[in-house]
Amino acid sequence: MSRTDLPNFGSDPHWTDPTPEEVVPGVHRVPLPLPMDGLRAVNVYVIETDSGLTCIDGGWAVAESRTQLETSLNAIGHRLEDITRFLVTHVHRDHYTQAVAVRAEFGRATVELGIGEKPSIDMFHSPELDSDPTVDRLRVAGAHDVADRWHAMFAGRDLELAQWAAPDRWLDGEHDIEVGDRVLRAVPTPGHTAGHFVFADEAEGVLFAGDHVLPTITPSVGFELVFADDPLGDFLGSLHRVRELPDLRLLPAHGAVAESSHQRVDELLAHHDHRLDLCIAAVDPAGSSAYDVAQRLTWTRHERHFDELDVFNGAMATMETLVHLDLLVRRGRLSVDEVDGARVYRPLP
Ligand SMILES: [Zn+2]
Repeated sequence: MSRTDLPNFGSDPHWTDPTPEEVVPGVHRVPLPLPMDGLRAVNVYVIETDSGLTCIDGGWAVAESRTQLETSLNAIGHRLEDITRFLVTHVHRDHYTQAVAVRAEFGRATVELGIGEKPSIDMFHSPELDSDPTVDRLRVAGAHDVADRWHAMFAGRDLELAQWAAPDRWLDGEHDIEVGDRVLRAVPTPGHTAGHFVFADEAEGVLFAGDHVLPTITPSVGFELVFADDPLGDFLGSLHRVRELPDLRLLPAHGAVAESSHQRVDELLAHHDHRLDLCIAAVDPAGSSAYDVAQRLTWTRHERHFDELDVFNGAMATMETLVHLDLLVRRGRLSVDEVDGARVYRPLP
């Protein structure tokens, strides 16, 4: 999920067309539908090998998505049961849950996920999950009314715990993975979530980027069950790590294929520098919460006012502001105090 910028896939609005696209020989981009999601679709990348199919990401486990995955695989001469392996970029449900569902249905595919996601997977199965951590997070940001509305929206929803079964293997550290004749470099890219991975096929010149680098929207940072200490710092570090790889064609999880991973990483780094400057300028000398600052900024490429955002996007905007302010505290630009459970920031000289 990634929507601090609302989607507008301007240059190529047709990327959600369900017809599979062969992006390089033997690798197919398979867009799958998402329920109730502004992102509209998620790309699963299907890699053909002599011993079955490896999928980068799995999609969101809903009936329409399973049907589309089956139809798309049939269109390229394969079946669902040919999938032997899922390499999942991160734990968000639009990427992870259908991998688990296909594994359960056919008993053949293995599922691999970054070990940084283990606390989130464990949390789903923990008795501690009696309150919604996002609500707590919104209160830390001083956004009590958004927290109340978020709680009302999600209270009582079934967590569907079977969808969050553990993977077969945890990906740990940067390493190479053989997929048929290919070698994928698995690179930890924490930030969007703590356990996010990208997979680089340098010989082919492509980067399976998950939600770490998206072509036209900026990924949300740190929207997960267990909050990282410094998700924005992690995210910026991960962007620099990907910038050190060769310039690769960008195969994103949401949006059309783009030509240059370097160009997009540079744009994302510049975006966050700019947002950090705007955040500092919006902090009142008398003290501001993240919620105060979020309401003074504009959102999405359309420069929308905070009040124009729905509950979900208002919450994302608030949490996005929180991680920017916390990074500015780490950088010595702001001070922070806690008042009634909410963080209050002040400029430092
Ligand atoms: Zn996603």
